Amino acid sequence: MINDPKLLNLLEQVVEGKLPGFEPVFAPRADGWVSYPAVEEFLGVDTAYACRLLEDLVHLGYLSRNFFARMLFCPVCNSHNLAWTIVCPKCNSPNIQRTRFLRHRLCNWSAPEKDFLHSSGTRLCPKCRSELLLLGNDYDDIGYRYLCLDCREVTRAPVEFWRCPVCNRLYDRYAVREVMLYKYVLEPSQVPKLRLEKIPRAKVREILQREGYAVQESTRIIGKSGAEHTVDMLATKMQGPLEHRVLVSFACGNPLVDAEEIIKLYARAYDVGVQDVILIATPGLTADADEIAQHYRIRVYNADAVDRLTLAVEPRF
Ligand SMILES: [Zn+2]
Ligand SMILES: [Zn+2]
Ligand SMILES: [Zn+2]
Repeated sequence: MINDPKLLNLLEQVVEGKLPGFEPVFAPRADGWVSYPAVEEFLGVDTAYACRLLEDLVHLGYLSRNFFARMLFCPVCNSHNLAWTIVCPKCNSPNIQRTRFLRHRLCNWSAPEKDFLHSSGTRLCPKCRSELLLLGNDYDDIGYRYLCLDCREVTRAPVEFWRCPVCNRLYDRYAVREVMLYKYVLEPSQVPKLRLEKIPRAKVREILQREGYAVQESTRIIGKSGAEHTVDMLATKMQGPLEHRVLVSFACGNPLVDAEEIIKLYARAYDVGVQDVILIATPGLTADADEIAQHYRIRVYNADAVDRLTLAVEPRF
């Protein structure tokens, strides 16, 4: 569970559709290439921290990392306004033109499409002078080739370069630097969980603190049995010589919180030794679970209704 309220606020922006996810910006620096301005600004953290945080959220299952863009840039000056440049493989001239070629089946002659056009509007083979009649029957469209206008070389594979307009260097395909940019999006399955964590947690904490309780969150407690429990929230307050302890648990059902969850919660509460147990359940409990919760006097609130949460005056558990 995420405890940092600022981080939960940030994720809430995504849950509520105010942010589409976390998109990268190409920003070369000493220790990386990418930054996530939305995260950095929202949390007031630096780029390296934001990148690590996003990766951590992937490992925790909150976010997934999706392809965003491939970035090509100059290995010398980091400019990414590179211009794709091609030259003739025979004479190195950049004066080459992409041209559609036709082939006449009878004489097997291929040439640029315009070479077949006759002033009469018909198509004549420039080699054997026969008229071309039906595409796919007596002649074929063989697609694009590059034609060098200086040496007439025809090629499908011109020599390719990337030119950096800033430092005017040329790079071949593998010399140009490449980096993949990823965006982080929320795992849809985490949305109900985040809703559960964010709003109710803050409200419950507020209510407890208002009532004078000290609140510990996601805390580890050794129970009477010696077993260690991680509890979502433990609130304590001295009432005279006695300490009143409230255990608050947050559960997200799939689709409903079931009886097993309630039994486990009861066992944990019993072992930890608290006077009051509150369960914030999203979206609610199964009928069985509800019955057991009543039996164990566990007070259940829907995540949307934590405003109604009241604290037992008398120890009731
Ligand atoms: Zn050429
Ligand atoms: Zn011909
Ligand atoms: Zn450059």
